[in-house]
Amino acid sequence: MAFPVAVPLSIPLASPEIDESDIRAVNEVLRSGNLSCGPWVERFESELAERVGVREAVAVSNGTAALHLIVKALGIGPEDEVVTTPYSFVASSNCILFEGARPVFADIDPLTYNLDPAAAEAAITPRTKAILAVDVFGRLADWPALDAIARKHGLRLIDDCCEALGTPGAGRAAAAGAFGFYPNKQITSGEGGAIVTDDGGLAAAARILRNQGRTADRRFMVHERLGYNYRLPDILCALLSSQLARLPEIVERRARVAALYNDRLEGLPLRLPTAWRNEGVSWFVYVVELPERAPAQAKERVIADLAEHGVAAGAYFTPIHLQPFYRSAFGYREGTFPRAEYVGARTIALPFSTRLQGADVEHVCRALRSALERNHIGGPV
Ligand SMILES: *Cc1c(COP(=O)(O)O)cnc(C)c1O
Repeated sequence: MAFPVAVPLSIPLASPEIDESDIRAVNEVLRSGNLSCGPWVERFESELAERVGVREAVAVSNGTAALHLIVKALGIGPEDEVVTTPYSFVASSNCILFEGARPVFADIDPLTYNLDPAAAEAAITPRTKAILAVDVFGRLADWPALDAIARKHGLRLIDDCCEALGTPGAGRAAAAGAFGFYPNKQITSGEGGAIVTDDGGLAAAARILRNQGRTADRRFMVHERLGYNYRLPDILCALLSSQLARLPEIVERRARVAALYNDRLEGLPLRLPTAWRNEGVSWFVYVVELPERAPAQAKERVIADLAEHGVAAGAYFTPIHLQPFYRSAFGYREGTFPRAEYVGARTIALPFSTRLQGADVEHVCRALRSALERNHIGGPV
């Protein structure tokens, strides 16, 4: 049964947190005339490194570029394998393909949605060079277990922490971590990314690679190696610095919206991320999981019903191995990673940002309740 909606609302899945101080920061750069390779890049890098608790941060054009440069700087290439999770955004696997190496998927822990360390270890072969895990939805992967496996087998660790800025420990447990600053992330510059690491050599290599392979002293037209233009302009670094200063407040406000959802959705036939509450997670999205008995295609139907009520929900994540490109390039089929597929078929991201008011959350929850009823998903979890 649908409930009546007097005024059609439109609640977006995400919205950025930009305030007047951010706008002033950008204007300052514009007035300076220093638009790229200027002082705001280094300033943001040192602020980010301090905030995350690492020695070095290297700002790059987006999170995918950060992942790519980590893979490249670690010397991973053709013939190499990297064990990784299928339940993620496609970039965490594509970055391995960019260097001609092979992503070898291992299944997830269905309770945390993160790479299952035992499955990861079972996927290791003599060609494995690294394990790339993702801090899915801001919740840390099981880094202590992954670290023990990496030491035992002589592997490097890569942290795709693009969704986890503000979660204590994000980006610190691996050889390097990648952050992303797309508008749905905790802080944003529209596009942007950064590598964080304690390894000065890796950071130096990343700085050369992001700048067309130019030597570290930036002699104007000397290119030491094949590089890219993955630079992040000063305007965007200033915007990120300005938001980074508010990160604790942003994380806190997001946690409050998550708590509202936890409250309002209690008792519905859904698995809620209530356990995350006490883990200090920096919330990236608020994801609910449909129960096991939900009929096939229920996820798509619930998302479509929510859209009818002006609620933009997200189909996070379709497992990477089932993406059309991966199916056609590698021949993957359903049934290969059953836990990732189970979770992927049931998880729905609800609208989530610091801008959501109590009334918005209320509206989303009513729309969700009605969508569950319409699709005959009832009873206790
Ligand atoms: C956002 C994100 C990225 C990076 O995305 P860009 O759009 O390239 O900044 C990578 N991995 C995950 C898991 C992400 O959520």
